[in-house]
Amino acid sequence: MTTQQAHSLQIRNLRKHYGAVRAVDDVSFTVKRGDFLTLLGPSGSGKTTVLMAIAGFVDPTSGDILVDDRVITGLPPEKRNFGMVFQGYALFPHLTVAGNVAFPLEVRKLARADVEARVKQALDLVQLGHLGDRLPKQLSGGQQQRVALARALVFQPELLLLDEPLSALDKKLRAELQWELKSLHQRVGMTFIYVTHDQDEALSMSDEVAIMREGKLVQSGAPGALYDRPRTRFVADFLGKSNFLPGKVEGREGSGFAYAAGGQRFVQAGHADGRQPGDAILVALRPEKVSLGHAASSTARNRLQAEIVSWSYFGTGVHFLVKAPGIGELTVTRPSWRLDVPLEAGAKVWLAWDADATIPVADD
Ligand code: ADP
Ligand code: MG
Repeated sequence: MTTQQAHSLQIRNLRKHYGAVRAVDDVSFTVKRGDFLTLLGPSGSGKTTVLMAIAGFVDPTSGDILVDDRVITGLPPEKRNFGMVFQGYALFPHLTVAGNVAFPLEVRKLARADVEARVKQALDLVQLGHLGDRLPKQLSGGQQQRVALARALVFQPELLLLDEPLSALDKKLRAELQWELKSLHQRVGMTFIYVTHDQDEALSMSDEVAIMREGKLVQSGAPGALYDRPRTRFVADFLGKSNFLPGKVEGREGSGFAYAAGGQRFVQAGHADGRQPGDAILVALRPEKVSLGHAASSTARNRLQAEIVSWSYFGTGVHFLVKAPGIGELTVTRPSWRLDVPLEAGAKVWLAWDADATIPVADD
């Protein structure tokens, strides 16, 4: 299973309209051989429709789907040879685990010895080699989902399509299976297309994340690049948490430029990108990129006095809601270890951030 060749996938100007509803609205992207691409977006943004078009269950209004530069848009699903895993496990309740995994091979009329060897290999891959004789109802939710995964991998599909496969599981199990899926992906070397509305899942597993909104693909990139360089308020907000400061450009300052917000002056690193003094600007500021102390930082380019409104402790860290005159409320996240401020509503604190901690975004 590990030796098989991975395939690439290309989506070109894909549209799917249902009457006036543009479920998918001119979406294009490429998945490199062996990559793990995640379509991330809120409910109703068109993720499942894209996946179903790739699988062949949804007939696109227009556009093309290519595997290794071969157009497959008109091919029926059974000719595409793609593995699929969905939210519901949809295992056959009367078949054993091994029977479930063998099913796609029996449909394909493989020789018995071949079937046995492949089933064993697929079950070992998802660490269920010892449970082949059980019935689905004798398994936990996580184990059932792993059987579904083994069943999708066993016929060595060209691509594996996964639509929110972990969303029915509880948080801890989900995190565990995220690790397993990622390591599985590395071991089999197959191309994975994954759909989720869960940003943590997308960030932790993918080589590439494509963010969807109202049928459109709004930004894609490697998880770290998307998180650190969102182009719009929507992306900054959907992928992680962010504060937003609306301001007006003032002029160049060192290697960056200054802007005014809430009666204060701040510095943004990087080029002004054609912005002129007086132009409106919106910058995104991640809560964990702000430091918080009882005294003003002597080194940070941006400083702001604020007051603690409330806080929420979550073990490894603390989320603070603070209020600054002229600016309003901001969220700041700090590690709980060696906090430099009291957990006390009304306490005066200093916020500080570097000029490259913020990023200008389009207000969409
Ligand atoms: P997601 O998976 O991101 O939640 P979907 O792809 O399921 O989104 O749906 C995208 C949009 O298309 C939604 O507005 C949904 O109501 C609509 N839609 C999906 N399938 C159909 C259908 N068969 N008929 C009409 N509208 C549909
Ligand atoms: Mg969906």
